[in-house]
Amino acid sequence: MAERVIPLVDQRLAALGATLPAQPIAATGLLADTLGRPLRDLRISVTDRCNFRCSYCMPKEVFDKDYQYLPHASLLSFEEITRTARQFLAHGVHKIRLTGGEPLLRKNLEILVGQLAALRTVDGTPPELTLTTNGSLLARKARVLKEAGLQRVTVSLDGLDDEIFRRMNDVDFPVAEVLDGIAAARAAGLGPIKVNMVVKRGTNEDQILPMARHFRGTGVVLRFIEYMDVGATNGWRMDEVLPSAAVRDIIHAEFPLVQLAPSAPGETAERWGYADGQGEIGLISSVTQAFCGDCNRARLSTEGKLYLCLFASNGYDLRALLRGGASDAELASAIGHIWQGRGDRYSELRSTLAADTGTGGRRVEMSYIGG
Ligand code: SAM
Ligand code: SF4
Ligand code: SF4
Repeated sequence: MAERVIPLVDQRLAALGATLPAQPIAATGLLADTLGRPLRDLRISVTDRCNFRCSYCMPKEVFDKDYQYLPHASLLSFEEITRTARQFLAHGVHKIRLTGGEPLLRKNLEILVGQLAALRTVDGTPPELTLTTNGSLLARKARVLKEAGLQRVTVSLDGLDDEIFRRMNDVDFPVAEVLDGIAAARAAGLGPIKVNMVVKRGTNEDQILPMARHFRGTGVVLRFIEYMDVGATNGWRMDEVLPSAAVRDIIHAEFPLVQLAPSAPGETAERWGYADGQGEIGLISSVTQAFCGDCNRARLSTEGKLYLCLFASNGYDLRALLRGGASDAELASAIGHIWQGRGDRYSELRSTLAADTGTGGRRVEMSYIGG
């Protein structure tokens, strides 16, 4: 059956105002939202563009040659990103992930990496600094990113079969070049490397075992992600989701697995180790097992809107504050106020919400706020 593609309505224009609270909120690193969840993880989208057209994220029918990407002046500059990130760190963020779109398409990204690497958490330590990429430009950029202060990378790769992978990225990009990117990242010291594989039932489930065999014993952590109903354009259907439990069973039948303890609170992936000590895999069950209870992630969009959930419809316009002359204390206060009002838990509510209304309207695209 042909996939249902829903025409895109541009939600990027809709923004919630980032207001300044009457009582300033000092950044103490102890912020909590309405469900008691701290702020620990900041994902920053540095571009809404991508050189791939994965059907689950940026289907060609929508992201075609007429698609209007954000004009350069709308994007936060590196200085604006760094200034904003500094306030997030003061509120308790310990980990920053650069994403997109394809982050390596943003020109001179290593300059931003250098600026972020120089920041400090409330504990006085450098933030954990990582990046998610489709790997296509990694062979060229790995060394310079490492030298600038990037610590790790996560590379997305949906299979080892060249034909399947070329079809999934929909721009005929070969597997071999992504593997070269992973090798370059490893040589540059950007490890431990994680590889993300989105599993779509009927599309690439036969790649689960080849991927497990390939990365087992290499130190690379392979993570399987359930195909999610992000955005409004990918024609998501529940019957195309292969539950993580099924992925685990497929691997366990060939390589026995044992469950491992989470490495950090709010960790998205459930960890499973190979019983023979040949490393571990991760299962990200965003559809079948809600993990909102300790979700400590904030997302900053390419044009400076703060999203409190991957499935949110609207973001808070921090750029208006940045460009409107707000002081650092005011910026921190606004961020604190927004986080204190957060009650988002979409995955937990998914089954009770109508598919398209999500948290109250059409959802934002993943390529815009990043994964
Ligand atoms: N372009 C980069 C990449 O692909 O790694 C970074 C951005 S991408 C939006 C971040 C992650 O989101 C990728 O690992 C991608 O596979 C994942 N992703 C995108 N759409 C998804 C969907 N519908 N369900 C599950 N994961 C998805
Ligand atoms: Fe591009 Fe990443 Fe989305 Fe694929 S998942 S279309 S590589 S942004
Ligand atoms: Fe966090 Fe929203 Fe995902 Fe729940 S659905 S884990 S609140 S991003």
